[in-house]
Amino acid sequence: MICPFCGYEETKVLDSRPVGNGTSIRRRRECLKCGGRFTTYERYEQASIRIIKKDGRRESFDRQKLMAGIIKACEKRPVTNEQIEEMVDNIEEGLRKSGKSEFYSSEIGDKVMEQLKLVDQVAYVRFASVYREFRDLDSFLEAIKELKNS
Ligand SMILES: [Zn+2]
Repeated sequence: MICPFCGYEETKVLDSRPVGNGTSIRRRRECLKCGGRFTTYERYEQASIRIIKKDGRRESFDRQKLMAGIIKACEKRPVTNEQIEEMVDNIEEGLRKSGKSEFYSSEIGDKVMEQLKLVDQVAYVRFASVYREFRDLDSFLEAIKELKNS
């Protein structure tokens, strides 16, 4: 398993336990190079989740890509790898539990915003500015207002 934080290939398993009524196994791993911790799941092969992009093309849901986007928004912020991992877990669990197999990329973006809002406000605004493609100061202020009202 390649470390999602630094790309190193060797990790050790810290903890292994069954989840979802024993239908999958959750493993906490630690990278031997950067010490980053992340979670992997071993489960029956599931119908893959597909994402419908803005231009209508579909692509497979990519957990690493989702994580990369969140890591970027959290750059130089006091957000731990565990918190990032947890946000990704929450989002993926939510998608799987919904029973749907296709999601619009905007739905994923909204879920990321929900998670970031709870964890770090600066990361939230950063992510919003990319995801909502802020073009002017007003849309920026609008996002801040939403943050304050919630
Ligand atoms: Zn690493």
